[in-house]
Amino acid sequence: MKIISAVDYADLSVRAATFVAAAVRAKPSSLLVLPTGNTPLGLFRELIKGAQNGLDVSQARFAVLDDYAGIAPGDRRSLTAWLLRELLTPLGVGPERLLAFDPLGDPHREGARMDTAIAAAGGLDLAVLGLGPNGHLGMNEPGTPFDQPSCHAVLTPETIRSNSVYWGSEADVPRSGFTLGLGTLATARAFLLLVSGAHKADILARVIAGPADTALPATLIHRHAAAIILADRAARG
Ligand code: PGA
Repeated sequence: MKIISAVDYADLSVRAATFVAAAVRAKPSSLLVLPTGNTPLGLFRELIKGAQNGLDVSQARFAVLDDYAGIAPGDRRSLTAWLLRELLTPLGVGPERLLAFDPLGDPHREGARMDTAIAAAGGLDLAVLGLGPNGHLGMNEPGTPFDQPSCHAVLTPETIRSNSVYWGSEADVPRSGFTLGLGTLATARAFLLLVSGAHKADILARVIAGPADTALPATLIHRHAAAIILADRAARG
């Protein structure tokens, strides 16, 4: 595990974009996981700027990290729609280059369908992840086994509360979703965890201290040989 310190959020976003761009240059058809949430928005802006300045993403492929279950395709809370709106559409990437969960898919089969699609696409080249306030990765909540395949996941009350900031109220947050599993994320050839802000300092310190413990899903990072944490000064405490 390597830790890279960024000065602030702007610096973190530029560094993350440089990392993603290098992966795409090294392998133009890379299969990339990019998260939703507030943390990656600066990275998205930098990638869009990069593409306007010559970064060729015309062969890159993407996979969503997670999405809510049981919502209609046009639902404003769709995380797939969020990723398309904030990053992929501005990059010129359509749904044909995106592996996404079907929110209305069978809870017992949708995760396996996604894992099969990822394997058929040659596996994940890079997983960029955000850190949940309770240490979750995607919708892998505390207690998730490290070898968990992609699956239907029930959100904890804490995550429902923290996700309500995006949608207005707790009642608006769906109670479950689909997520790439920790076991699936662990197969990514490169793994970049983005952490920004003083409100993440305590949880980040616990993740860095380790050891790998399912009570804190992000400690998966201790089990991944090529994992990098990119955190700004505020998050380093
Ligand atoms: P954030 O979300 O980037 O908005 O902090 C991260 C998460 O909850 O996984």
